[in-house]
This record gives sequence, structure tokens and C-alpha cells, in this order.
Amino acid sequence: EGLRSLLLSRIRDVPDHPRPGVMFKDITPLLADPAAFNALIDALAGLCVRHGADKVVGLEARGFILAAPAAARAGLGFVPVRKAGKLPGQTLGQAYELEYGTAEIEVHQDAFSAGDRVLVIDDVLATGGTAQASLELIRRTGAEVAGVAVLLELGFLGGRARLAPSLAGAPLEAL
Ligand code: 5GP
Repeated sequence: EGLRSLLLSRIRDVPDHPRPGVMFKDITPLLADPAAFNALIDALAGLCVRHGADKVVGLEARGFILAAPAAARAGLGFVPVRKAGKLPGQTLGQAYELEYGTAEIEVHQDAFSAGDRVLVIDDVLATGGTAQASLELIRRTGAEVAGVAVLLELGFLGGRARLAPSLAGAPLEAL
């Protein structure tokens, strides 16, 4: 399909980043290409509408670059989920496992209204740990999960299976 091949053609493989043996998917060529970037934001905005989202979450940091314009284009508000210690207001936090050690993400306690349907956007789904933690966090605020949308899913890392229990039937869309 046209969109899929356009997007894939603008993602660059960078070997040995951030560590030896890792093939990093670099999305900066896509962001720099106005036609591809616009097509991506259109597609993400379409998913926001199709899945009945009330608010759009972006995961720090590359998720912000995609989620904010998609939210605006869909006529929805944007909510940042940030690494611990960055948000100024009262926050809820969620820790999760990394390959080595743990990480924590946070959201403002009052970011959602009760029952809000929230779509989570990030650039890449790898192991699924970050997205899974964001879904737990969103549910703990009293909001509902409308789904997760990513540009690229690294299928061989099994993120979809890891995310499934937290999705509880909500869709995972990979463009
Ligand atoms: P996960 O928690 O799914 O293992 O990792 C996903 C997070 O790491 C995402 O926020 C994503 O931005 C980042 N990430 C992991 N691998 C890659 C990659 O190859 N390319 C890009 N652009 N981001 C990655």
C-alpha cells in the first residue's frame, strides 16, 4: 500500500545505536520530508477519530513529535506522558522494567476527565514496556484506553503480546 511504503522508505537503519548489536530505526528522515510527515500525521489523526478518542497521549520524547500534531488535526487535546521528575503539577507515576534496571513515567493527575477515552501514540513499539506502563497509568487516573498507535512495530521483540493484557481488547495500530 502507498502510505506504508512511503513511510518505510523514510525510516533509516542505524547499526550499533545506542549500543553495539542494536539496529536503531531512525525516523528523522521521515520527519524532515513534508509529504511523508503530513501523510503520517493525517493517518494518526484518522486513527484518533476512528477509535473515538477524547484525548491523545504522546510518550516522551519522539511520541510528542507525532501525537501533538495528530491531536490538533483531529480536534483533540494532547497530554504528555513524561519521564519522572519533569511534570510540574501533581503526578501519578508508573515504574517498569528495562533490560537493565527500571524506569518511571508520569502523567498529571488531572490530565483526564473521568471516562475520557485516551489514544496513546509513540514512534516505535519495541518490547512494549513503555506503552504498557502508559496504559496502566491512564487506567489509574480513571480514564479509558481507546488504543495505541505507533508508526513502527518491531515485531520480533514481542511487544504486541506483552501489551495485550493491558490493552484488554483495545486496538494496537502500527502504520
Ligand atoms: P519499548 O518500551 O517498547 O521497549 O521501547 C519503546 C521506546 O523506545 C519508544 O519510546 C521508542 O521511542 C524507543 N525505541 C526503541 N527502539 C527504537 C528504535 O529502533 N527507533 C526509535 N526511533 N525508537 C526506539
